[in-house]
Amino acid sequence: MEEQKIIIGREGNQPFPITQDGVSGRHASLTIRTDGTWVLEDLNSMNGTYIRNKDFVFERVGRKVIEKDTIIRLGSDDTIRSLQFMAVRLVAGPKDFSFEFGLLKSKWDGLMERRDKLEKQIALMSYLPVGASVLLLGATISVNDIHVIRGVMFLPSILSPVINTFGKKKLKKLNEEVKHTFVCPNPNCGMPLTETEVKLGKCLKCKAHI
Ligand SMILES: [Zn+2]
Repeated sequence: MEEQKIIIGREGNQPFPITQDGVSGRHASLTIRTDGTWVLEDLNSMNGTYIRNKDFVFERVGRKVIEKDTIIRLGSDDTIRSLQFMAVRLVAGPKDFSFEFGLLKSKWDGLMERRDKLEKQIALMSYLPVGASVLLLGATISVNDIHVIRGVMFLPSILSPVINTFGKKKLKKLNEEVKHTFVCPNPNCGMPLTETEVKLGKCLKCKAHI
């Protein structure tokens, strides 16, 4: 296999059109080396080339080895509808989104299961301080000290917010992951996808499909 190089930009030879302002004529390049590794390189573009890290934050890159499922963004616009696409887009047919939809499909059940589990945990955890308070009250009632008993009675109102904040932070992060993962793989669409669309392997907004 020979080394392959794709120029990405408004004047690039990537398999889909790029017309967005803010993307340079020759913005970046992808080199597929003979050993199969993919190297993304910024070509001194005006607004930079970015890739998404595991925390869903875009990091500016100069030259970097990437994977087929790396999310690339051209330019510094940080909205979900900016020009971003999976690296595989640079070699796939312009109407063939099977790699991306296949990946999204395989992620759906796992992510939703994790979210359900966490939501149940949060609901359960909110009862924990009440339960603990009732148990402790039984134990302290014999102490016959109004301060101790009062303290135990107030336990839920002190502990519940702490426990809930912890669970809700985790849930927020997971929801962030869902929001950033399930978007249309078409670089000129990028709309959020519903469960039906993911399972169907088709975006009902732009008609991109497997
Ligand atoms: Zn779409």
